[in-house]
Amino acid sequence: MKAIPGAQTIGLPFLSRRPLFAVIIASLLLLQGCAATSGASEKGLRTKNVIIVVIDGVRASEAWDSVPGAIPNMSSKLKGRGVFFTDFQNDAYTYTNSGHAAITTGVNQPIDNYGAELPAHPSIFQQWLKQTGKPATTAWIISSKDKLNILANTKDSVWQNTYMPSLNCGVNGPGTGYRADSLTLIEVKRVLTTDKPNLMLINFMEPDGYAHAANWNHYIRGISRNDRYVKQLYDFLRKDKNYRKTTTLLITTDHGRHLQGIDGGWIDHGDNCAGCQKIFLLALGPDFKAGTVATKYTLVDIPATVAKMMGITLEQSQGQVMKELFTTKKLRAMGL
Ligand SMILES: [Zn+2]
Ligand SMILES: [Zn+2]
Repeated sequence: MKAIPGAQTIGLPFLSRRPLFAVIIASLLLLQGCAATSGASEKGLRTKNVIIVVIDGVRASEAWDSVPGAIPNMSSKLKGRGVFFTDFQNDAYTYTNSGHAAITTGVNQPIDNYGAELPAHPSIFQQWLKQTGKPATTAWIISSKDKLNILANTKDSVWQNTYMPSLNCGVNGPGTGYRADSLTLIEVKRVLTTDKPNLMLINFMEPDGYAHAANWNHYIRGISRNDRYVKQLYDFLRKDKNYRKTTTLLITTDHGRHLQGIDGGWIDHGDNCAGCQKIFLLALGPDFKAGTVATKYTLVDIPATVAKMMGITLEQSQGQVMKELFTTKKLRAMGL
């Protein structure tokens, strides 16, 4: 009886009297079990949920290059619990919709920055929903910027209007303007509590929004508020029964800001200067080692890594798995 794993827990006493039959049934049950978990998370990993936070438009000089400064929570309380990438870059198109599309599709592409154009490739949300068969409530995009509704869909004719994730963008959807990040955080917590999604992308807009308005104090305030919101989210996940110990939290920005120009360049962004390209990634989760990674990675490597962790394949992606995050044992479990 002890040679038949699973039989005891499912309580089928007749199995012990029919050894061959028992083995067949047990095997079928095991196969079914594998099928049910396939796609939920990669074998050997604890992560079942991934949440990506994008703090829009943070230049390194106001954040990780001058710590603790505006980011005491991330730099002092969270960094030591995860992996910090010292050479993380957006080396392609350094503006919001392109940076976010790189994160969701794994492909760098120029794209209209006012929300008039869908990404050319299917997102990790669409591919995850298709491969797992889960409902749209398990994948969410919650964004302060209304124009990021484009991330839910694609121009790819094979994928367009299919397997789209749930959306909560801007004041009240596309065309209704930017929403305060404090309200976005409330929506995030509400959805995490009600829908318990496995995959979520969050956009906080205040640093970028106030920088464009040439308001230095509010730009810095936006960074420090978002630093606080990230800590609040981290604490929420750590205490929540559904998310604790099974959730990976990735915190990044879509682009930096110029190093030169009016008032030192911080007001705008969008070219290939070092200030626009230098971004950051802090990775927290039950499957990661702690420490820093010096290898250069870019935004497209985020979905490649998340897809691998969530047990799905990401077609058309340019990214690579950020292997330094994992122990040798976990890499082997993922087939890497
Ligand atoms: Zn901007
Ligand atoms: Zn620049």
